[in-house]
This record gives sequence, structure tokens and C-alpha cells, in this order.
Amino acid sequence: MSKVSSPVLLRRILSLTRSERRALSVGIFFLLLGSGMTLVFPQALRFIIDEALGSRNQALIDRAALGMIAVFALQSSSEALRFYFFVSAGERIVTRLRHDLFSSLVSQEVAFFDEHKTGEITSRLTADTQVLQNAVSGNIATALRSGAQAVGGLALLLYTSPLLTLLMLAIVPPVVVATVLFGRRIRQTSRKVQAALAEANGVADEVFSGIRTVRAFAAERHEVGRYQHSLEHAVELSNERSRLSTAYVASTSFAGLAAASVVLWYGSRLMLRGEFSMGSLTSFLVYSVMVATALSGLTDIWADLMRASGSAERVFEMLDRQPSMPSTGGERIRELRGLVEFQAVRFAYPSRPDVPVLQEIDLVLQPGEVVALVGPSGGGKSTLAALLARMYDPQGGRVLVDGKELRTLDPEWLRQQIGSVAQEPMLFSGPIADNIRYGRADATDSEVEAAARAANAHEFISRFPEGYRTLVGERGVQLSGGQKQRIAIARAVLKNPRLLVLDEATSALDAESEHLVQEALERLMKGRTTLIIAHRLSTVIGADRVLVLEGGKVVQSGDHAALMGQEGLYRRLVERQFVAA
Ligand code: ADP
Repeated sequence: MSKVSSPVLLRRILSLTRSERRALSVGIFFLLLGSGMTLVFPQALRFIIDEALGSRNQALIDRAALGMIAVFALQSSSEALRFYFFVSAGERIVTRLRHDLFSSLVSQEVAFFDEHKTGEITSRLTADTQVLQNAVSGNIATALRSGAQAVGGLALLLYTSPLLTLLMLAIVPPVVVATVLFGRRIRQTSRKVQAALAEANGVADEVFSGIRTVRAFAAERHEVGRYQHSLEHAVELSNERSRLSTAYVASTSFAGLAAASVVLWYGSRLMLRGEFSMGSLTSFLVYSVMVATALSGLTDIWADLMRASGSAERVFEMLDRQPSMPSTGGERIRELRGLVEFQAVRFAYPSRPDVPVLQEIDLVLQPGEVVALVGPSGGGKSTLAALLARMYDPQGGRVLVDGKELRTLDPEWLRQQIGSVAQEPMLFSGPIADNIRYGRADATDSEVEAAARAANAHEFISRFPEGYRTLVGERGVQLSGGQKQRIAIARAVLKNPRLLVLDEATSALDAESEHLVQEALERLMKGRTTLIIAHRLSTVIGADRVLVLEGGKVVQSGDHAALMGQEGLYRRLVERQFVAA
């Protein structure tokens, strides 16, 4: 699964810290100071035991005790400052990372979002970056401290007694072996735990987004059972991980303490022979325990970093991903007339490349012309509309606007020239006014209102007590399908585009709403080149031309009257679909 080697990944994780070099340097300073103070403590102990107690000098004892308190005060405040600098730098690093990751994600081509589940994308943004933050602010700091303590402790051990140091170091090989053996199994189990948890989250995600279906079938208990089942699987695995970790921690700490006992035993013999002082033995023991904990801390962190590298890989992969379609750059046409041409367009969705969706589509929309698309569901109508807005690039043929191929035009500019009203328009949580202003961010209040009037939306908006400031979405009012459509039409009016891509609602609106939407759409289409996915008879009758799409091909085209005069799909559709409705 790992495509990048660990050192490369670790270097990349460390490179994130570059922007916080100053804060981290200050943090490292306090870290070293704190570790230094920790190392001073056993020396003070030795001094008290050998010098102060030995000489039975009360003043010396007092001074040593005061000194020790000062050392601990310095040590604690250094630790606190170290913690503060590392954690705040970590927060800033992950905030920047999330920002960069979000900008990278949001500019990916539409096809990318067809291929990745929303849950997967958001988990990279939140969970994976969080793991990285912990690695940067927690683990790196602790690793540095443990490293400093291990090195300093070993140096002082050697200085106190080379022989006892060698004895102490005898525990290193078994600890390393245990770390490698247990570490690998812990890592593997961790990966399984994460996967099982993700699966449980998947179940919850599905249930919440489909809550209406769950409720309609009174399937709550069934879903609770399903969730419980997936949780149990995760719990089993994490119990396994706990058992491994416990065994690992217990055996390494036993090894450390056993070594300390051996040192105590041998040191005592040396002391009896007068080769070693009582204080030296005590401080030696404290140092050995310190080195042992520092070493086992380091191995722990190593395993942790290895676990974090899975997340790092996922984050960097997204961060580095170049969208296959740029979002800016290219030509802009002055005075766009609105001529649209599809020339021998062939298309398949990148997520299903071997299923042709459009085949050899030829189509010309004269400036200001209204072309209605009809045909059975799955025939390719929405896909054709999506190609005009350059949501995807065709695999064959060309789409042109005013004679220029879409690929050569600035996508940002192009999308400003296209107004679109979807079947189920997406409104963002926030005031109604902001939702209309999505069409043009710098529009004034009176422009927003004028657009709403043109879209037959002003009246229902004014009926809300808070008017245009009424919140929509999760914490605001729920709008009906017809109301949402009219807000979307107001957006398009505000944008004042040359080209329109419209998708009529299939779901039946009430007669009043339908009439208002229809009227607003007609007003919007006037003088603009329009491609409309039609579901209403009045729309196809009003269109300049009707295109019948079936199986990704244009099977009939002409105006309503001409098509009704022909034997064919169109007449059958009109009789079945529109007349019945
Ligand atoms: P219509 O609008 O006429 O109902 P569409 O253009 O939505 O038809 O769909 C045409 C075909 O493309 C269908 O077979 C559909 O399953 C497929 N399709 C639509 N959207 C996607 C997508 N995002 N990814 C893969 N296939 C898709």
C-alpha cells in the first residue's frame, strides 16, 4: 500500500514545520533546558547523599534542597513553555495544511468527485490532518526530548561508571527485538482498526443521509444493529491491539527494571568494596531508569510515526494532485455573441470510460436560440448540458462558443458567461440575499431585489418576516422545490449571462408555482442562447428547436409541429409523457 519510502515521507512531514521555524526553535530551546534540568536532578541527589549527608552539615542540606526546588521550577516552566510553543505551532501548521488541502480539493475536476466518496474526501481534510498535527506537535517534541535524555543520560552514565553502563546496555538488544516484533504487529492491527472504524462511520453516514428512508421503513432498530455489529468488529480488533501493546510495554519495562536490579546488585558489591559511593550508585540507578524510559519512549514514538505516515501519504497525495482540467487561464472573448457548436462530440464519463454516453453529437445553437432536449431518461441530456459548461472535456470532437473551442477559453470566464438552473438547485446555508448574490458577488441590494422580481421570487421572499435576510438551509427555512428554482433563476438573472443551461424540474410543482417558474424562465431565456432539458409540453412547444436524444445519439430534431408530423419517438414521448401529465 505504501508507495513512498518512510524516510521520504518523514522528511516531507518535517518540511511542514519550516514555516514555524522560529516558534519551534524557541520550543526546542525550552525542551533542551527542561531535559538538562531533568538530568541535573540525579547529580543533586548524589550531592545530597554523599556530601551533605556525609558531612552531617544542616546548612548544606538546606541549600541543596533549595537548589533542587529551583531546578524543578526551571524544569517545569521549561516543559510548560516547550509544550505551548510546540502545540501552537502544530495548530498553525495544520490550519495551513487544511487550507492548502481544501484549495487543492476544491479545484479538482468534476470527474474527481465522481470517483471519490464525499466521506473519504472530508476524512482526509479532518482526520488525516489531525493525525499529522499530533505527529508534528506531540511526537516530534517528545522524540526530541527522549533523544536528548537518552544521549545525556548515557553520557553521564559513562562518566559515572563505564562498567555499569555496559551492564545496563545489555538490555538494549532484547528491547530492540521486542520493539521490532511487537511494533510490526501493532501497526498491522492498527491499520485494521482504522479500516473497521471507517466502515462503522460509513454505516452511520449512510443512515443519516438516508434517514427518511430509514424512518419510512421503521428500520431504526435494524440500523442500530448493523452499526453495533460493525462497532463490535472494531472493538475486537482494538482489544487485540491493546493486548499487544500491554504485553510490549510490560515486557520492555520489566527488562529495564531487571537491568536496573542487576546494576543495583553489582553496584552494591562495588560499593562494599569501596569502589563506588552510595550517592553515585543512587544517581546511576536514576540515570539508568531515565535512559530506559527515554529509549522505550523513542520506540513508541517511532511506531506512532509509522502509523501517522499512512495519513501523511493520503494528505500529500491530494495536496500534490494536479486537476486534469485547469480552473483559470486561457482566452476570453470580447462581446460574446452566443453561438454554440457541438461538432462530432463523443463522450464517456472518466469513472466509466468504456460506457459511451454521447456519440457523434452535431448541434448548432444560433445566438439567442432556444433548443429543448427531450428523450428517455439516461439518454444523455444532462451530460450534453454539462459539456457546454465544461464540467468535462469530450474524448472526441469539439465544443465551440463563437467559433472558439472551449479548451482554449478561460474556464473561469466561460462559467461567468453561462447561467444554469438545476432541477434541484443547491442553496447554501445563509441568507436568501447571499444565495442570490452567488450569481454576482458585487451586486447591490437593489440589484438583488430586481433579480428576485424578474424571477417571480420577490413576493414570497418579502412574506418572510426577515425578508432577504431569512436564513435557508439546515438552520433556516426549508424552501419548496418551486421556491428554490426561482431563487436559482434570480441568481442567473443577476449573472446576466449570454448562455443558459436549464434543467426543468421533473417533480410536479403545484399549478401556481409551476406557472410562476415557467414565466420567470421565459423571461430569463429571452435573447439568450439556451439549452434546456425539457419536461413540460409548453417548453417544447415554445422552443425554437427540439432535439430528441436516445442512447447518446440525436434521433430526431426539428420544431414541435414538424416532429409531431413524423412517425417516431418524439410523438410517442409527447403522447405518453406530456399528455398524461
Ligand atoms: P439524461 O439526462 O438524459 O437522463 P444523463 O446524461 O444523466 O441522461 O446520463 C446518461 C448516461 O450517463 C446514463 O447511462 C448515466 O448512468 C450515465 N451517467 C450520468 N452521470 C454520470 C456520472 N457522473 N458518472 C458516470 N456515469 C454517469
